[in-house]
Amino acid sequence: MTEPGGRGRVGIGYDLHRLGEGRPLWLGAVRIPHDRGLVGHSDGDVLCHAIADAILGAAALGEIGALFPDTDPRFEGIAGSGILREVASRLGAAFLRLGNVDAVVIAEKPRLATHRDAMRDAIALALGVEPTRVSIKIKSNEGCEAIGRGDAIAAQAVAWVEAR
Ligand code: MG
Repeated sequence: MTEPGGRGRVGIGYDLHRLGEGRPLWLGAVRIPHDRGLVGHSDGDVLCHAIADAILGAAALGEIGALFPDTDPRFEGIAGSGILREVASRLGAAFLRLGNVDAVVIAEKPRLATHRDAMRDAIALALGVEPTRVSIKIKSNEGCEAIGRGDAIAAQAVAWVEAR
């Protein structure tokens, strides 16, 4: 997988979901109290989705839109943690392991700082790695655009994978 002398490969992931009423908010595989939740065929967990795509990208194993299509009823309501577990399984089957993941959540509301450690632990657990391999940063959108109005949440991630 890695080039001779190479140490690993990097991947990038991005996701955005709208916030809507009548849904629970799941972020980083943690249920977070809020008056709205992320809308999607899945549970809408943008942080898990961005991380999953970063890992899949590093391993050149595709993308979650292809692996978990929103037209497939089997994946209706699928949890972000479930997607991460499946991605970790595919990574292992490709004789790769996660070096680290670094992610940014961009949300105006709710405030997420007090949930950061719980999200990190839940993501690490789903991926089967130590929490020291997972970094999560939290940003607002300074009131700009849909995220700034509190109508959407986005996430970006990079992942590094290495040969096992
Ligand atoms: Mg998504």
